Amino acid sequence: MKKSLLITIDGPAGAGKSTVSRLLANKLSYTYLDTGALYRALAYRCIQEGLSATDKGGIANLCQRTGIVLQNKEGFLKVLADGEDVTDKIRTESISLQASAISAMPPVRAALLSIQREAGKAGGVVAEGRDMGTIVFPEADFKFFLEAGMNERIKRRHRELVIRGDAVQYQNVKRDLMMRDRQDREREIAPLKVPEGAFIVDSTHVSAEGVVETILSVIRKRQAFL
Ligand code: C5P
Repeated sequence: MKKSLLITIDGPAGAGKSTVSRLLANKLSYTYLDTGALYRALAYRCIQEGLSATDKGGIANLCQRTGIVLQNKEGFLKVLADGEDVTDKIRTESISLQASAISAMPPVRAALLSIQREAGKAGGVVAEGRDMGTIVFPEADFKFFLEAGMNERIKRRHRELVIRGDAVQYQNVKRDLMMRDRQDREREIAPLKVPEGAFIVDSTHVSAEGVVETILSVIRKRQAFL
């Protein structure tokens, strides 16, 4: 397989992107680029500063002075916001919603774009997010769009939060996930959609390992002709 491919995986919350991207990156010895973590880290800083998601000026200002760093160490991802390790703190539901709200703002997307492109430019990367194949890496070697049925996505997200120790109600997870879906798909800038040329993979009844095998078989088939 050609080394240093740039592979993008887009899709909605709960479709299994993170697990699949991490497994795939491990298998290929590539870097895993979790772009949602960047939006979450910025959302964390907004909440820390008491900025509401409607405070456009305040958030634009925050973007200019906040340093977000993603560190990959032996397969583990560390997220720093202005030097603070926020890796675990950014996984809550309130951060998910704040991240989704602020990610519709142009200064937020502009501030995070160069970090993402820099991280992906050498290849050897599995980049996961909502606009990887459409906006951030339109030239990617392989683009995938991961989907799953709504009930399965809610179940997965709920399980993920419970495992983390969040005593969150299933109905609330459902409400939040639907709201995030709407915001992410309907925003004007970089909305979640299937990138041109992307392979769509439905993970509803397939394990993460099964999805990785499907992705690898797509890549191997095409690589043989390159
Ligand atoms: O993927 P994750 O759930 O961590 O993303 C949190 C939020 O960040 C998403 O709901 C979305 O609004 C935003 N996001 C984005 N573009 C990306 C990655 C995440 O807008 N590339």
